[in-house]
Amino acid sequence: KLLLEVKNVSQIYGSGTRKFTAIENINLTLQEGVFVSLLGPSGCGKSTLLRIITGLQKPTEGQVLYRGMQLQGVNPHASIVFQTFALFPWLNVQENVELALKVKGIPSEQRTKHSVELLDRVGLDGFENAFPRELSGGMRQKVGFARAMAVEPELLCLDEPFSALDVLSAETLRGELLELWLSGSIPTLAILMVSHNIEEAVLMSDRIVVMDKNPGRIIADIKIDLAHPRA
Ligand code: ADP
Ligand code: ADP
Repeated sequence: KLLLEVKNVSQIYGSGTRKFTAIENINLTLQEGVFVSLLGPSGCGKSTLLRIITGLQKPTEGQVLYRGMQLQGVNPHASIVFQTFALFPWLNVQENVELALKVKGIPSEQRTKHSVELLDRVGLDGFENAFPRELSGGMRQKVGFARAMAVEPELLCLDEPFSALDVLSAETLRGELLELWLSGSIPTLAILMVSHNIEEAVLMSDRIVVMDKNPGRIIADIKIDLAHPRA
């Protein structure tokens, strides 16, 4: 089933003589349950497109349809994981995850129970009261994933989620993400991952979308046969 449609989306930044087109006339459709990697040179508009898809940013032109409907503001069915984690430094690990649940309107007692479960699932049990600065990059990104999964998204957007991590943490987290998706425990979960690592994209995703820059546009859209098909 069709999950998301990006239709004729363009983004212009700046004004007057400093105006420039970051992305131009992007068309993209995502089906339920896909794992799409988005590749392209730095500055081609990958992050811009991700922000537009999640509703964090309204494009200059075009529209984004979610299950056939145009959403106003942030898409409550999508969540995003950033390269540099973007955790709240004054909140501990558990509070960072609980905040996402609070935004979704989950009652207080359930928030506590659910956030502890989520942290346990990413291997952070015992670290509930730690603050982000006390954790390694890999552990912070695990909090980022736990927070993103807290809202039970149908679309998980990842902006170079492993590129700030050491090799070993990146490898571990890649494995865990792939396992989550391959297990089919959330059958409709679609993943859109910005990556600069072709090898990572080929190994993990079942479709690769390639962008070029000046202006940012899609130049290739390739289906990949997975070595390990999804359950
Ligand atoms: P990528 O993620 O592929 O590196 P970005 O979407 O971050 O690309 O940026 C695309 C282009 O738009 C870059 O030239 C960047 O400097 C510019 N850009 C991104 N965000 C903004 C912004 N909020 N205001 C002005 N220019 C921006
Ligand atoms: P990325 O390549 O991952 O998007 P950047 O460092 O390019 O990371 O951008 C980080 C933030 O700065 C983004 O929120 C983006 O919108 C903003 N940004 C990037 N380029 C510009 C720019 N030329 N003018 C204003 N804001 C920008």
